Amino acid sequence: MTVPTVYIVGAGLSGMALAESLSRPERGVPIRIVLLEGRPNPGGRVSSYRETYTGQWVDNGQHLFMDVYSSMLSFLDRLGTRNRVVFPSPFSIELLDGKDKSHIFRIDPKLGRIGGLLGVLSFSGLSLGSRLSMLKAGSRMSSGALKEETVDHLDARTFLLQSGATPESIERFWELLIVSATNLSSPDVSAALLLRILRETLFGPRGSSLIGWSSVSHRELVIDPALTLFERRGGEVRLKSAVAKISLSDNRVRSMVVGDQELNLSPNDHLVLAMPPWSLEKVLPIEMMDGELCQNIMRISFFSGIVSIHLWFSGPVDLPSIGGFMSGPIHWVFNKDRMLHPEIPEEKRPDGKNYLDVAYGGEEGRRSAGTFLSLTVSGVDGRDETSDEEWVQRALLAVERFSGLHPLPDLLHHRVIRERMSTPILGPGQSLYRPSNQTGVSNMWLCGDTTDTGLPATMESAVRSAHVLAEILVRGLLPGGGRK
Ligand SMILES: Cc1cc2nc3c(=O)[nH]c(=O)nc-3n(C[C@H](O)[C@H](O)[C@H](O)COP(=O)(O)OP(=O)(O)OC[C@H]3O[C@@H](n4cnc5c(N)ncnc54)[C@H](O)[C@@H]3O)c2cc1C
Repeated sequence: MTVPTVYIVGAGLSGMALAESLSRPERGVPIRIVLLEGRPNPGGRVSSYRETYTGQWVDNGQHLFMDVYSSMLSFLDRLGTRNRVVFPSPFSIELLDGKDKSHIFRIDPKLGRIGGLLGVLSFSGLSLGSRLSMLKAGSRMSSGALKEETVDHLDARTFLLQSGATPESIERFWELLIVSATNLSSPDVSAALLLRILRETLFGPRGSSLIGWSSVSHRELVIDPALTLFERRGGEVRLKSAVAKISLSDNRVRSMVVGDQELNLSPNDHLVLAMPPWSLEKVLPIEMMDGELCQNIMRISFFSGIVSIHLWFSGPVDLPSIGGFMSGPIHWVFNKDRMLHPEIPEEKRPDGKNYLDVAYGGEEGRRSAGTFLSLTVSGVDGRDETSDEEWVQRALLAVERFSGLHPLPDLLHHRVIRERMSTPILGPGQSLYRPSNQTGVSNMWLCGDTTDTGLPATMESAVRSAHVLAEILVRGLLPGGGRK
């Protein structure tokens, strides 16, 4: 019998993680794996571009990690790049309120669940009544008696209010957390997703989890290492290979169009569609269109966008690694200089100088190096038509507010990146429609952040979906495996 081929369509995070997992030599699975990507560049929603202004790889948008991202971090372990993700501990974020007053939210995970409790109680951005309401809501949400499926029909805002949260705590705290974790505002997102996020992060068995970031670009962290490893193991990567018409017969995929060529699948070959719902609905076989799977996929094919505004200044702008805005319109400002140089302490030196300035060779060196900031707006309507100039103006105002600098150093360069299709809209009740890895077609599978992992559409969900599917496929592909 010929060695089976697994075609993986989509070199995003889930496709790359699946390729890595299936190609592990220790699995002893005799297969050929072909990774097909429609675009000229791999990575999907975790991509990097070569910034002409600096010559460096710069990401499409800031991605944050949690130390509970077990699947994603184990993938990075395999690639040998996990040490590039930093998790400052204790973790503190500076948040600016609508009156430009700053408040620190600090969590010390060493204190377990008490750490989260103390973080909330000492957060000066909320009235005492609201802080207590957060504890009340938190205690309800962390109780095992409350099942996620029983609140999936509710939106997160209604659920929080029912759990005792005050409107002030929602507007000044929960909203920022929810839009950042789900890319949707609280009235649009399922309460079950909020519950899952909080249980995996703030109310985890070990207490609160830490937030971290990569100190290198997506390209260096995942894309190049994953594809290099995969090719070294004998895998094949084909870019600019968009898959179109998939044809079935006898409930099997018989062929598909790749670019302008038809590719036939042998009886023991498999096809994995590692792509988001809005891409899936364009390629699924015509005879499946009336079926439940396609109908469900169409229900979750609506998307929410993220706008990233990258700014390069002529001189220092002294900001923490992560700064949040409690009242929008920008949600976060990231000091990329600090994030890309985690070895440099955030606090000032005893002589009052900034460690980052010193590392750059004093004020002169820093002036020539400039400052690279990236600002993020989540939950942006995919049809938003705000101009680049308008986004940049909003971003500059936000930087002024956070830094207190008037005027700011000269803006040398900017880039506005609109990821209109950043995440699917997983509103109340929509978890019912998230597909599993199975399609009902015997050799066709799904993979990606929107499959039914129960998590919001995140890097962790994408990789978890890939790892679950890898186990199913390996069981079936091994001689004498579980396939009936
Ligand atoms: C700006 C931004 C910020 C984000 N921030 C975070 C964050 O802080 N934390 C977090 O955990 N997650 C974050 N995410 C979400 C995270 O990036 C995604 O959940 C994850 O990358 C999804 O991976 P995927 O493989 O499921 O899908 P994708 O990355 O969408 O990959 C699908 C791939 O399939 C390809 N494809 C589609 N159709 C075809 C076709 N017909 N033929 C061939 N190829 C095709 C696409 O080109 C793409 O490369 C963010 C996303 C964005 C855009």
